[in-house]
Amino acid sequence: MPEPRHLLILGGTAEARRLAEALHSEPHSELRVTTSLAGRVARPVLPPGEVRIGGFGGAEGLARWLREHRVDALVDATHPFAEAMSFNAAGAAAAADVPLLALRRASWVPVEGDDWRSVGSLEEAAEALPALGRRVFLTTGRMGLAAFAHLDGLWFLVRSVDPPEPPFPARMEVLLDRGPFALDGERELLRRARIDVLVTKDSGGAATAPKLRAAREAGLPVVVVRRPPAPDGVTVAATPEEAAAWVRQSSG
Ligand code: NAP
Repeated sequence: MPEPRHLLILGGTAEARRLAEALHSEPHSELRVTTSLAGRVARPVLPPGEVRIGGFGGAEGLARWLREHRVDALVDATHPFAEAMSFNAAGAAAAADVPLLALRRASWVPVEGDDWRSVGSLEEAAEALPALGRRVFLTTGRMGLAAFAHLDGLWFLVRSVDPPEPPFPARMEVLLDRGPFALDGERELLRRARIDVLVTKDSGGAATAPKLRAAREAGLPVVVVRRPPAPDGVTVAATPEEAAAWVRQSSG
């Protein structure tokens, strides 16, 4: 019996999980699927198939892992802000001569009625805030709160999956929650917390988009952190379905 083809998915997103689910549910699949997680979330939602957790040790470590585990195809389905991992994936795939696909959700695009301020970093977002309001809904995740820690005059509602660690703003309420989030809940949250301004990364995707509509309806400004650069020359799919088609074709 020939060995099944081995796919490694760099995960940590809903799309990575959906890709693993789609491939796993295929009848008579001759594919072995491993998902890799960084280990940032205490109780991750696990995909079907094999799961490994923790860093590889840079691009070299990942290239070694690809060779040692006889990986035939690699899908980088990490979050659009996981910049280091995406560059490591590109370097490792080239070094180990393994075909690579990036599964990257499309960016969010403003529509009529949106009042968005585009910034290049969390630090720039923090700079913009005092002029926009005093009560801030901060949805950029628990990492990187240090950029807002000096803003003593502002109050923050921070939503994250796990509790943040200092440094973080002195005046802050933490809401532990994991998407997807529904529009009604987002409207209610903005109203109840008397939010003046929303801060978000340009994560894209549907799971966390309702906050943008809720902010538009409430006439609130939104500070949107632009995506970091992604490696050039990598084939990109926008949906798990497209990525699954690439996997079938590249491992057929
Ligand atoms: P990052 O800054 O690009 O990566 C830092 C290091 O973490 C990498 O060099 C790698 O360590 C390790 N790593 C990252 N993703 C990994 C994975 N899927 N499997 C194994 N090791 C991984 O990444 P990050 O922004 O901290 O994101 C970490 C994880 O959280 C990713 O899975 C990402 O999809 C998810 N996530 C991130 C965000 C965000 O806003 N950044 C939001 C939602 C989910 P080594 O160099 O040792 O291999």
